Amino acid sequence: MVEESKFAIVAKDLVKNFDLPSGDSVNVLTGLDLEIYQGEFVAIMGPSGSGKSTLVNILSTLETITGGDVNVGGVQLDSLSSNDLLNFRRAHSAIIFQSFALIDYLTAIENVKLPLIVRGISQDEAEAKALHFLEAVDLYSRKDHLPEELSGGEQQRVAIARALAHEPKIIYADEPTGNLDAVTGMKIIHLLKEISHSMGITVIMVTHDHKAAMETDRVYILQEGKVIKEKSEEIGERTSK
Ligand code: ADP
Ligand code: MG
Repeated sequence: MVEESKFAIVAKDLVKNFDLPSGDSVNVLTGLDLEIYQGEFVAIMGPSGSGKSTLVNILSTLETITGGDVNVGGVQLDSLSSNDLLNFRRAHSAIIFQSFALIDYLTAIENVKLPLIVRGISQDEAEAKALHFLEAVDLYSRKDHLPEELSGGEQQRVAIARALAHEPKIIYADEPTGNLDAVTGMKIIHLLKEISHSMGITVIMVTHDHKAAMETDRVYILQEGKVIKEKSEEIGERTSK
């Protein structure tokens, strides 16, 4: 439905308000513009509360917009019904969380197989693909371990293998190294970079870590719901914490 070469994200004057039970409304995104190209590895930085997670949730279609335009891969998101949004997300996106979000009673390979089974792929083919994706994150030898038997870094690698099992155009990662030590976190960043550059998958990563941002192709810095700075090199001291 979408031509490969067109796959990119363009947000123009994006506005997101949340209505509170009190009747008040919080204006979280206040006219945000950005452009992301297919295959880019992009960092989103900014102070806590600046709207980073809200932006990622909108781009990944978990949240709807209040105003402006968001075009993902040539598709205007606000033109899709909620059912079409779900299908669109399943076909194009995968999400990685700070908390890994693995299913704790499933082994590594079972966690990676799950999205394949949900897509209706046969058990044998799902098994073969899941092994392939676990190999890609260098975890073949841990395939039969439960999450609790794996280190944080290994759990995040399983989550990345599971993301790959969606065969996504875009991977969203909201602070994927937030629960990891610096050295392990950097290994995850390098893995995401390699995935982006060798597989042509767009990776959009929220991070507070300047060193992590230095590994990306482009950095967007948010403040009060807007992009205040875009950098493609030389990530400086104005960024978050
Ligand atoms: P960040 O990820 O940059 O820390 P968020 O996008 O999570 O920021 O949140 C930005 C602001 O939006 C915060 O002030 C937060 O309290 C508010 N917010 C986020 N989600 C909701 C919601 N569902 N309802 C009301 N306010 C929200
Ligand atoms: Mg956040």
